[in-house]
Order: sequence, then C-alpha cells, then structure tokens
Amino acid sequence: VWNFSAGPAAIPSVVLERAQRELLDWNGSGASVMELSHRGKLFIGLAQQAEADLRELLGVPDDYAVLFLQGGATQHFAQIPMNLAGDGDSADYIVNGHWGEKAASEAAPYVRVNIAASSKSDQYLRLPPRESWQLDPRAAYVHYTPNETIHGVEYHEIPDVGDVPLVADFSSNILSEPLNVSRFGLIYAGAQKNIGPSGLVVMIVRRDLLQRVSRPMAKIFRYAEQAANDSMLNTPNTWGWYLAGLTFQWLKDQGGLAAMAERNRAKAELLYQAIDGSGGYYRNPVQVSARSRMNVPFTLHDSALDAAFLKESEAAGLLALKGHKALGGMRASLYNAVPLEAVQALVSFMKDFAVRHG
Ligand code: PLP
Repeated sequence: VWNFSAGPAAIPSVVLERAQRELLDWNGSGASVMELSHRGKLFIGLAQQAEADLRELLGVPDDYAVLFLQGGATQHFAQIPMNLAGDGDSADYIVNGHWGEKAASEAAPYVRVNIAASSKSDQYLRLPPRESWQLDPRAAYVHYTPNETIHGVEYHEIPDVGDVPLVADFSSNILSEPLNVSRFGLIYAGAQKNIGPSGLVVMIVRRDLLQRVSRPMAKIFRYAEQAANDSMLNTPNTWGWYLAGLTFQWLKDQGGLAAMAERNRAKAELLYQAIDGSGGYYRNPVQVSARSRMNVPFTLHDSALDAAFLKESEAAGLLALKGHKALGGMRASLYNAVPLEAVQALVSFMKDFAVRHG
C-alpha cells in the first residue's frame, strides 16, 4: 500500500519498523521512549542527537538556534509576529496559496500586515514573481510559503529580500532538497509531512532575532526562552521528537538532502509527464515553472469519474488521493517517504484507468 496523503503523511517504513521494535524497550531503558523523563540523560541524549543530525543535514550555521516546539504551524502563524514585530511594526506577507493567506490573517492581531504580493486573483495557479512584490524596507520581516500544499505551487528559488529577515513556512517541503539556511531569518515547519508525526514544529531561527521584541508575553510564547531552555520550558512532544530523530538518521542513510532532491525531482517528473502526456484525460492547471515537487493536484477530464477513480485507486493500494475540498479532483503528495516505486504504481494505475474508462 502506498500513501499519498498530504498530511499527516507517510513516514518512512523503516522508521516505523524501528519504532515498533523499540516501542516497549527503548535503548535498553526497559521503558518506552514515551515513558522517559524529558529531563533524564537518555532523552536529553536523543534530543541532542536529533538536533545535531538536523544541523548536519541542512548545514545550519552556528548563529541559528534549532527549536523543537508544539502548537502546529498554525500557532506559529501568530507567535512569529509576537516575537519578531514590536509595537506599531508592519510585516510583508506574500500570499501564494491557502496557507500564506492563513498565516497573514493569524498574524494580523499582532502586527500590521501588508500583503506585498498575492496570486489569489489567479486562483493561486501561478506564483507572484519576485519583481512584483511591493516590499517595505522598514518591514519587521517578509513572510512567504515556499510550497503551498493545497494549490501545488512551489518557489524553486529563494527570493532576495535585502536586509529584511525572510521568514518561511516550510511545512510541506522542508528536507526535500538542500537549503541555504543563511538566506533566512526564520524557517519553521509542522512535522507531519517530511519530518514525522503531527504535534511537533521544527524551527530554525537566527539568534539575533530572538532578542528583538520586548512586548509583554508569557514565557511559553517567547522563542528566546525556548532557545535558552533547549525547547523544554514545559514537557515537549517526546514521541514526535524521537520519530523526527529517526527520520533525520534515515535521511542521512539515504545520502542526505542532495540524494533526496534527486529522488524528489524524478518522482515529480514522472507524475507530471503522465498527466501532461494523457491527452487531456488528466490535467494539472498550475503554471509549469511553479509546479510543486511535493504536492500534485490533478483533475480528471470528467469529474463524474472521480468517485470511481478514488474507489479503484484505493482498492489498488494507492491511498489518500482525494483532492483538497477547496479544489476537488485529486492530489498526490510525494513527500520524502514516498518512494519512486509508489509513483510508478500510481502512473501505471492512471494509464490503466484511462484505458478502462475511456
Ligand atoms: N503550512 C502549510 C504549508 C501546511 O501545509 C499546513 C498543513 O498542514 C500548515 C501550515 C498547518 O499546519 P498545522 O496543522 O501543523 O498547524
């Protein structure tokens, strides 16, 4: 069975198998990792190793803190402006899909939101090109969504925004390819696509930004406090942290992010070729240069066939292909844990379905 879910998404099967083997007795402790104190030596060792592996994979510079937080990406839509924008500040938001729109609206109680570019009038089928962004050089930061999970659009270059810190919601494409972290002020990602189970947020933030804002807020919301306390101000999501650590090790075993990038390119190419080469039976309406490697929405030439496509694909072991309700149709998510073999199976099912249903 291959899982094409957009999130929570597939986790590499070797990671799950290892977690299963270790479930009742982790690392000789005689207890499950979920039952160990986060302040104990064993768990602290695990947490440090996970951070070290993530730093190695992404080449995170020393002047960046790595945080393992909770609340999902959505909570950080609000917490980022709380931490990075002071009284009266504005921040620039690039809205290139559903999640960017939500990030901007959740930020609005805490910062003056300036929509510096939006592709809403294009139904998010293309990306607002960098030249069109109306940036304010005095903005506290620029926020964008490198990969929009629902609309299937992805920026393939890191935009240059001068000296203003660039903040990016990498929830659905983190660790899919090498990344020059030093181009960003803050990177964050909900874990449930390319990292592990939901309930964990990984954040990489330039340390100087942590001291920026002195607005009154509870410690639990302040990233500087989380950094000073190794993300353990309160009980962290230890299970999520453990699985994230196993996934980082798996990524290293796979050859790191350069190898993942190559695989992800090949997977996406195979599926887009099948769609584009279907003579209009299947369609992906996104501007070709903006197409996502991670999330591929597509429609059938006749939506009356949708139900049969979903029923038969599921019976063929191809799970979770139903498109997001906002778009309808289908969506195949091709995160790191989805192997080329899965995409080959999908493409062959699609060809066969088109022949059978004419
Ligand atoms: N940002 C992006 C790009 C997403 O795909 C999602 C969806 O899961 C979210 C944010 C919301 O994440 P969470 O459910 O962790 O709040």
